[in-house]
Amino acid sequence: MQKLYIDGKWTDASSGETFDSLNPADGTTIDTVHAGDAEDVDRAVAAARGAYYDWTTSNVTERAELLRRYLYRLREEKKDLAELVTREVGKTLSESEAEIEDALNLTDYLVGEGKRYFGYVAPSAQKNRIAYTQRCAYGVAALLTPWNFPVSIIVWKAAPALLCGNTIVMKPSSNSPLTAGALVSMGEDIFPPGVINLVTGSGRTIGDRIIAHESVDVISFTGSTGIGKKIRSATALKEVGLELGGKNPALIMPSADIEKAVKDTIIGAFGVAGQRCTSTSRVIVHEEIFEEFKSLLCEDAAALKLGNGMDPETGMGPLISEEQVKIVDGYVKEAIEDGARLLCGGEAPDGMGGYYYAPTILDHIRTDMRIAQEEVFGPVLCLFSCSSFEEGIGIANDVPYGLTAAVYTADLAEAFRGTNELASGIVVVNNPPGSVEAHLPFGGVKESGIGRQGGIEGINEFSRTKTVYIDY
Ligand code: NAD
Repeated sequence: MQKLYIDGKWTDASSGETFDSLNPADGTTIDTVHAGDAEDVDRAVAAARGAYYDWTTSNVTERAELLRRYLYRLREEKKDLAELVTREVGKTLSESEAEIEDALNLTDYLVGEGKRYFGYVAPSAQKNRIAYTQRCAYGVAALLTPWNFPVSIIVWKAAPALLCGNTIVMKPSSNSPLTAGALVSMGEDIFPPGVINLVTGSGRTIGDRIIAHESVDVISFTGSTGIGKKIRSATALKEVGLELGGKNPALIMPSADIEKAVKDTIIGAFGVAGQRCTSTSRVIVHEEIFEEFKSLLCEDAAALKLGNGMDPETGMGPLISEEQVKIVDGYVKEAIEDGARLLCGGEAPDGMGGYYYAPTILDHIRTDMRIAQEEVFGPVLCLFSCSSFEEGIGIANDVPYGLTAAVYTADLAEAFRGTNELASGIVVVNNPPGSVEAHLPFGGVKESGIGRQGGIEGINEFSRTKTVYIDY
């Protein structure tokens, strides 16, 4: 049974309530977890506030050294942690390992950045005065995180928050509390009590209290756009970072390497069973190569082997829950009723035991259909055809989201026009839309969010500038 972690101790939830963490590959319970509530949030925030002074007045390079120790620990534990991630959220072992690698890369980058936590010196308008800026922490940071990258998203928030001198209260998804618990355990003997706190339980109960709490100074949320909007509107005077949903397009032009574009689309659309904010969910293919692209794509999609992520032969794991299977199936059925054509998949295969849904591709889709506009969060790909680059860009941009986008072309002008004209926070040329590198900013435009994680921008999310004047 996993408890809450508050002020350096594993502690019971005040309510005495618990919930189960399930394995989506077979529906079995992995472990039971304490369900915190508003009272536990108050305890966790008080602990974080209590630890704040000593933590934030420690030297940034000391904090970077603690992160280095954590980095080594995470590296040692990588194999066991990857297995836990696969059991808890269903992704394949290689996908779990890849996300832990992202977490290691970010931590490694930040350890070095500790020595470059710079402000700048400015000339003063006054005589006998020095003026400069320094970076400082916000205070208590609340980290609200989703289940689909249960290691990397926590680390991409926690590591910069801690480096900058914030103390943290973590609220992971109820679909991945054990992975969050394992991450906290690894830091138990590294970080002082109160610096890291973990409250598991209902998103609404805990989230509402965190959002309203006067001692929470910064909220960093990654999750669905609906909840992100609610947080934004309820937190006028708090610093808020929001990493939200996506409806990511790949535009494939006639000069592209078609076989590579097909392979990339399979990974982009069906990696983590399509449950990534960066999933390729729309492919817009020039009409000259549409038929060839479509038949190669459907062939490869049909060959993907569904199964338990622990099996090295598995190409695609289960969805996170039975409810998500129903949501995805609902989108597909509605699209078909509206005139879309099913090219492959479109069903939950019988007799597999867990929450599986076949890789699904549809065409004959109008851009005003719900499936063309909303984030499905499952292995469903919408295929469009276009007669020109301009038309393709128009379809790509015709959604409320703007997280990532790709253009496949060997034409230099189309490549650069794509980077300029695709309305998204990240544009990739000749690779799937979901590229992530630790030293570069990651984040979206429009309803995909506000703010950036990774790189210097990720440090700036958790620190503010103080201006200092010294007269002499
Ligand atoms: P979710 O929005 O359901 O939950 C995210 C977190 O918010 C969880 O910890 C949840 O418990 C909590 N929460 C729930 N209700 C809340 C409330 N009322 N107030 C505050 N917090 C609340 O998302 P999910 O299903 O865990 O993850 C999938 C979503 O996350 C998708 O939309 C996906 O695109 C998005 N996502 C975005 C990024 C990105 O970087 N842009 C990365 C990964 C996932």
